[in-house]
Amino acid sequence: MSIHIHWFRRDLRLEDHRALHEAAKLNTPIVGLFIFDTDILDKLEDKHDLRVQFIHEQLQLMKNKLEEHGSSLVVKYGKPLDIWKNLTESYPVVSVSAVRDYEPYAKKRDKEVYDFLSSKNVKFTGYKDQVIFEKSEVVKKDGGTYTVFTPYRKAWESLLTEDHYREFKVDFSSFAKLEKMQIPSLTEMGFRQSEHANFPDNKLKSQILNNYHETRDTPSINGTSRLSVHLRFGTISIRSLVRAAIHKNQVYLSELIWRDFYQMTLYHFPECVNRAIKPKYDRIQWDNNENHFKAWCEGKTGYPLVDAGMRELNTTGYMHNRVRMVVASFLTKHLLIDWRWGERYFAEKLLDFDLSANVGGWQWAAGCGNDAAPYFRVFNPTTQAEKFDPNNTYIKKHIREWGTSAYPKPIVDHKFARERALERYKKALTE
Ligand SMILES: Cc1cc2nc3c(=O)[nH]c(=O)nc-3n(C[C@H](O)[C@H](O)[C@H](O)COP(=O)(O)OP(=O)(O)OC[C@H]3O[C@@H](n4cnc5c(N)ncnc54)[C@H](O)[C@@H]3O)c2cc1C
Repeated sequence: MSIHIHWFRRDLRLEDHRALHEAAKLNTPIVGLFIFDTDILDKLEDKHDLRVQFIHEQLQLMKNKLEEHGSSLVVKYGKPLDIWKNLTESYPVVSVSAVRDYEPYAKKRDKEVYDFLSSKNVKFTGYKDQVIFEKSEVVKKDGGTYTVFTPYRKAWESLLTEDHYREFKVDFSSFAKLEKMQIPSLTEMGFRQSEHANFPDNKLKSQILNNYHETRDTPSINGTSRLSVHLRFGTISIRSLVRAAIHKNQVYLSELIWRDFYQMTLYHFPECVNRAIKPKYDRIQWDNNENHFKAWCEGKTGYPLVDAGMRELNTTGYMHNRVRMVVASFLTKHLLIDWRWGERYFAEKLLDFDLSANVGGWQWAAGCGNDAAPYFRVFNPTTQAEKFDPNNTYIKKHIREWGTSAYPKPIVDHKFARERALERYKKALTE
């Protein structure tokens, strides 16, 4: 018997799945595989990492579903190339599929596996599934890459056809019959289960979608979809969200386009992970005061909206988008701390951490990324709080001691910090 292996990575679902849909046409029994990659896991310092738990829970659900259909899921723990060497020695693998991933590490890993499989005459096919448009599908008329969002969005919308967001059904009869298998436990992999994990649903509620344009900027209410973790791990299909949003809410659709935009940017400018997209911004002299950074991380800057956001992040692994913009602007402009420090802190803490959106969001906030706005836009954290949390509901929820003498005084004066930032940026850009 020959088998086809589908390698799950950021596509942890069994519905509306392009690669599984296409693989069924091969008429070769499909075996699903997931690898807990030690190259990634070994770098995670927090052994309660909720993302690992999220993946683990999702794999269990997928495995149960496949077992209902007489198949199962193969889950391995180790280095991907070693696992592939073992698998091709042990099983009659004739072809492999995966969903394309545009992060630098993933591209390198996939190239190595591709080269190895080719040497064994095993065909490895990648599919576009986690974005609507990838690579150079949305480019300027002269073939150049868009670096500003609005013209990209317009081009994206003009190219969109129903085919881009059609559903790809999964045929369960195409999976191989397999014995039930064990998924390595979190403990076996050196991680621990958190009792307090509270993952959001992977459903887009119609009430959220209908009112999104009015509710999305209020951090105290459930006014956004909370689907970022599901988009991160592919536990919901991006096409299903475009189908839902397309004639209902353009503002929501636009947020999904931002996601494509940042993935495209990372694909074309992989160096943006460490370098400013606008090179002159790498000349900024950051202060990088470690005490200020610590106060920011702990939510003790004395600016309530900033502190509430950081405490929300530290306790839940999530932060509202409006507040992400405010805390990122505060770190880079008020405290003059390098955006890369903030990006790395978010990367450790966010359940929805996605390299492209995180680097994109941080470079946007620091003014050095794909943004048409000038650097001298400096968010005022106090007026942002008055506008978006007028009754202090969000602030009170996350800062117990707010309004008491236990709450810290501002670590920096707003007016002074704003002027200092403008001066420092100006110096770097005009030198
Ligand atoms: C400094 C900073 C860092 C960020 N880091 C991340 C990150 O690591 N991972 C991440 O998924 N998002 C990141 N974002 C974008 C955004 O804050 C989150 O996607 C959003 O808050 C998630 O909540 P939601 O699912 O309720 O979003 P909704 O408002 O319901 O939006 C729907 C979906 O659209 C996408 N989206 C929305 N806004 C953006 C955006 N600005 N850029 C890219 N995609 C977007 C997300 O996939 C989101 O789930 C960051 C933003 C900033 C300013």
